[in-house]
Amino acid sequence: MGIKILQDKCAGCTLCVKACPFGAIKMETKKAVIDLTACTLCGACVSTCKFNAIELIKEEAKSGTADLSSYKNIWVFIEHHLGEINPVSYELLTEAKKLSEDLKCEVAAVLLGDEKIENGIDELFSYGADKVYLSTHAEFKEYRTAPYTRTITEMIKKFKPEIFLIGATTTGRDLAARLAIRVNAGLTADCTGLSIDPKKKILNQTRPAFGGNIMATIISPNHRPQMATVRPKVFKRIKCQGAGAKVDIIKFDPVINKEDLVVKILGLIKDESIKVNLQEAEIIVSGGRGISDPKNFKMVEELAAVLSGAVGASRATVDAGWISAHHQVGQTGKTVAPKLYIACGISGKIQHLVGMQGSDTIVAINKDPDAPIFKIATYGILGDCLEVIPALTRKIKELRG
Ligand SMILES: Cc1cc2nc3c(=O)[nH]c(=O)nc-3n(C[C@H](O)[C@H](O)[C@H](O)COP(=O)(O)OP(=O)(O)OC[C@H]3O[C@@H](n4cnc5c(N)ncnc54)[C@H](O)[C@@H]3O)c2cc1C
Repeated sequence: MGIKILQDKCAGCTLCVKACPFGAIKMETKKAVIDLTACTLCGACVSTCKFNAIELIKEEAKSGTADLSSYKNIWVFIEHHLGEINPVSYELLTEAKKLSEDLKCEVAAVLLGDEKIENGIDELFSYGADKVYLSTHAEFKEYRTAPYTRTITEMIKKFKPEIFLIGATTTGRDLAARLAIRVNAGLTADCTGLSIDPKKKILNQTRPAFGGNIMATIISPNHRPQMATVRPKVFKRIKCQGAGAKVDIIKFDPVINKEDLVVKILGLIKDESIKVNLQEAEIIVSGGRGISDPKNFKMVEELAAVLSGAVGASRATVDAGWISAHHQVGQTGKTVAPKLYIACGISGKIQHLVGMQGSDTIVAINKDPDAPIFKIATYGILGDCLEVIPALTRKIKELRG
C-alpha cells in the first residue's frame, strides 16, 4: 500500500490538511505534501479531496504469482482488557489448534500489553499456543488502534503467518480491518465456521450472507495471511492435554510513531445499562413473538430465575420494543452457547439459529409443529408457551423444594 498526491490535480484547497487525523499533510508552494512516516494510510484525505488528487496505491498480487509458500503457521490475536484476557481468544486458540493438525503447522498467540501482561501467558500455552509473539510497552496497556496496528503489521511482515484469526468484538473488528489493508490481505468478517480444504490446504471461511439466507464459504487463495474474524462463543474453549509446559516466547520490539498516540484514553466508563451477560450464561430462556405480549416476558424471566439463567430474546421482540437489544440472540445480536437454551415462541429463522445453535441442549416450545426451531431442538414441546412456561416454572420450583 502507498499513497500519492497527483500534483497536476491538487488545487491547494487545504481540505486534506484539515481532514488528516495524524497531521501528516502540509502545504508546500500551494500543493499538498504527505509525510509518509506519519501517514497511516487511513484514507481520510482521499475521500475528502474534491479534485481526486490523492490516490491510495494497492499492491496487486497477481493470481498464482505471489510467493505464498513462505507464509506458515496460524496466529491468534489475544484480546484483553487491562490484562484480563477475553474468552474469545481462548476459543480461537482451541480452534486454531484443530486447524493446525490439518495444516501440520504451529499455533502462535499475538499478545500486546504493558509489562504486567506477561502474567497471563501460561494460560495461552494451555489453550494450544505453541509460541507467543509478545510486544510490551506502557502504551499497549489498553487497546488503541494506531499503535497496535502498526506493531502487528510489522510482526506480520517479519514472521509471515499463513492464517490470522481475530475475535469479532468491537476491538477485533477495528483491528482486523486495518491490518488487512496494511498487509494487502483479504478479510472475512463474522465467520461461524472454519475448516481447511483437504486438497488445496487453504482456509474455508464460512459466514452468513444475503441477510443470513445462505451460508457462504469464502477463500483467500492469492493473499496471505488468510484473515478472519470470529464471533465470541462460535467455538468452545478446551484446554489441551499435557500442554502448558512449553514456553516459547518471541519478544518483538514495539513499533510506535508519536502520531500513533494522538488518541488518549482519559478514563474507562462501565456501561451500567448492560445487566445481562448472555455470552457467559450457562442457561438461557429466550422469548419470541409467540409470547404474544411484552408483559409475558415476566413469565420468561421467572423461568430463567428458577434455573439461575439469563433472559434472551428474538429480534422480533427487540424490534417491537418488548425488551432491550442487550438480550437479542442471533446474527445481529449475541452468539451464545449455553448448556441449556429454551426457545419460547421463537420460529427458528436462520438469523436466530446462527446465534444459538452451538448450545449443548436446545428445548423449543412452539405451537406450530412445522416451526424450523424443531429441526435443531434436542427436545420439542408442541404447545402454547403461555401455558407451558408457567407449568415448567412451577414443576422446577417443586422439584427444588
Ligand atoms: C439481516 C437480518 C438480521 C437478523 N438478525 C436477527 C437476530 O440477530 N436475531 C433474531 O432473532 N432474528 C434476526 N432477524 C429476524 C429473523 O429473520 C426473524 O424475523 C426473527 O427471528 C423472528 O422472531 P420470532 O421467532 O420471535 O418471531 P416469528 O418468526 O413471528 O415466530 C413466532 C413463533 O411463535 C410461535 N407461536 C405463536 N404463538 C405461540 C404460542 N402461544 N405458543 C407457542 N408458540 C407460539 C409461532 O408458531 C412462530 O413459530 C434478522 C433478520 C435479518 C433480515
